[in-house]
Amino acid sequence: MFEALFKHVQETFIRYAKVATGSDHDSQTTPSTARQFDLARMLADELLALDVQGVNVSEQCVVTGHLLPRGPGKSTDVVLLNSHMDTSPDAPNEHVEPIVHEYKGGDIVLPRNGTVIPAEDLERYVGQHVITSSGDTLLGGDDKAGITQIMSLLWMLKQRPEVSHPALFVMFTPDEEVGRGTESVKVEDLVVPGHGRVTCGYTIDACHVGEVEDNTFTAYKTVVKFTGHQVHPGFAYHKMANTITAMAHFIDHLPVDNAPETTKDSQPYVFAQRVVADVEKSEVHLILRSFTDDDMTMMQQAVLDAAAAVRAHAVHGNVAIAPFEFIPQYRNMQDVIRRHPRVWNNLCVAVEKATGTPAVSFPMRGGTDGAMLAAQGLAVPNVWSGGVNFHSVREYVPVESMVKGVEMLLELCPLFMAQ
Ligand SMILES: [Zn+2]
Repeated sequence: MFEALFKHVQETFIRYAKVATGSDHDSQTTPSTARQFDLARMLADELLALDVQGVNVSEQCVVTGHLLPRGPGKSTDVVLLNSHMDTSPDAPNEHVEPIVHEYKGGDIVLPRNGTVIPAEDLERYVGQHVITSSGDTLLGGDDKAGITQIMSLLWMLKQRPEVSHPALFVMFTPDEEVGRGTESVKVEDLVVPGHGRVTCGYTIDACHVGEVEDNTFTAYKTVVKFTGHQVHPGFAYHKMANTITAMAHFIDHLPVDNAPETTKDSQPYVFAQRVVADVEKSEVHLILRSFTDDDMTMMQQAVLDAAAAVRAHAVHGNVAIAPFEFIPQYRNMQDVIRRHPRVWNNLCVAVEKATGTPAVSFPMRGGTDGAMLAAQGLAVPNVWSGGVNFHSVREYVPVESMVKGVEMLLELCPLFMAQ
């Protein structure tokens, strides 16, 4: 059975990786890119073939379906399993050509653009089957590795009728990478007929095999807009209001010790992610991340202080900074999960059964769809997908990590019965 599962996982992943599903930060539409429907429709067809009921692709490109519970034992739970279909727009994401390497050690040199995955990134996976791109695109293991695990679980449940499970609600979302993954999802609508709405769930996304998370970032974003005016530079004395220099000073005032590249573990940051720069109009797009509310207050104050410093600077007297708001994106899910200890405990038991070692958990320097669902009160810890070096041309996924994920889910399902 292991070999059949291994083959299924590898083939399924490669099939999904080849479908371009990059999302778009700037798009106003939902989904942010229409091509995400290509994968959504493929998944809907495959769910139907796996006997999943109620299969639907919403106008917003959310794929859903469910399996009714089966014994022995009874369960009042309806367990959500979800992953995201889009891939990051921050690296080339079209024409992905997955390559399977039987990894024996050393650097992996990819065929395009001289891309190298250094040996130290791969240490844990010697002797395994590592899937990469061809070097000029990301791979999309974030999060097609997660989708692969859920689809392979459903395939296994069909092969092995003796495995009991609670009511399962499957959901694949678009646009996670642009922070809009569950924008159109209302928890009260995630219902298995006759069994009610979802009671808890698991997001399969990111991280090494064996890693699970209940502690994610709290996230806000904002855009700071500068307005000035243009004058002939030869006659600009005390007249020109140059928003490019004002914005540069603003960015320079942000705390250098709280940037993505200077923080780790549970430290918070402000990230000047993107700028539009011209003399008369400039803007900087910022995201703020922290694990605690106190740290978030501190990061927001740092942004306000930077704006105040520019306003106070004589040179920028004629540059206007528009009032800006901090817009919430998602919340650290730890509080909600602590109120539902069974969800976390079952996960830890299943991980240990499947991997032979206790689950490993770090503060996750990111958000998940689970963190967005936590804002609606649903406990949805995050489970590894196996993807490494996400959002980059050096991204890779060991097939073995995904297989372990499926085996863990097979252990997890019966733990919800007869409790
Ligand atoms: Zn992801």
